[in-house]
Amino acid sequence: CGIIGILGSHEVSPQLVDALRRLEYRGYDSAGVATVDAAGRLDRRRAVGKLVNLSDRLVHQPLPGHIGIGHTRWATHGAATEVNAHPHQSGRVAVVHNGIIENFRDLRTRLEPLGITPQSQTDTETVALWTAHHLDQGLAPLEAARATLALLHGAFSLAFIFEGEHDLMIAARKGSPLAIGHGTGEMFLGSDAVALAPFTDRITYLEDGDHAVLTRAGVTIYDAAEQQTSRPVSRIDTGS
Ligand code: GLU
Repeated sequence: CGIIGILGSHEVSPQLVDALRRLEYRGYDSAGVATVDAAGRLDRRRAVGKLVNLSDRLVHQPLPGHIGIGHTRWATHGAATEVNAHPHQSGRVAVVHNGIIENFRDLRTRLEPLGITPQSQTDTETVALWTAHHLDQGLAPLEAARATLALLHGAFSLAFIFEGEHDLMIAARKGSPLAIGHGTGEMFLGSDAVALAPFTDRITYLEDGDHAVLTRAGVTIYDAAEQQTSRPVSRIDTGS
């Protein structure tokens, strides 16, 4: 039910969990984080229940990396189990998702002849599986994500990170809000400005149908027609 993404300058998993705490008010049943470390390895940790279960897990099994995504889940498809918790990972991609992929059953069925079998009961995993498939076909991350987005029906916000890419995050918004936070040599992504308040007061809201490519140098935003576009940067009152 909450998404956070950080392209940072030091270890991000503690920051990801802190930011998820700021999204707790939305409610959730499980949580998880994924990072890409300095060697390009993509990995994740997930836990059912309160965020303290996730932070305990991270104490015993740390997750290094200066780029990462985090999620608090409010299950819509599939029970609140660790296997169903986000991030969903397949091959070289990890994905967090808010909302519902309405045509996920059809998307699953179409994976069967490719020999691709889901591990979870979620609608979200189909996004990871299709994107991994597109990467395996030789598409670059942006093209692979776009090819997946073109398949999806429903209302969602999504964030993707990729093995071997420690300066790349892709985000998409259709019917579910997503905000980009501008730092100095760092970039952030969140379900709302509240989650980003500790990091920055400069926010850009994606518009419906937009997708975005984030690097530490900034963001490039594309509209639903895949045309590069610009969205305003606003200063939010971070309060005290
Ligand atoms: N539909 C997804 C799931 O059940 C995402 C739910 C959410 O927005 O947290 O895993």
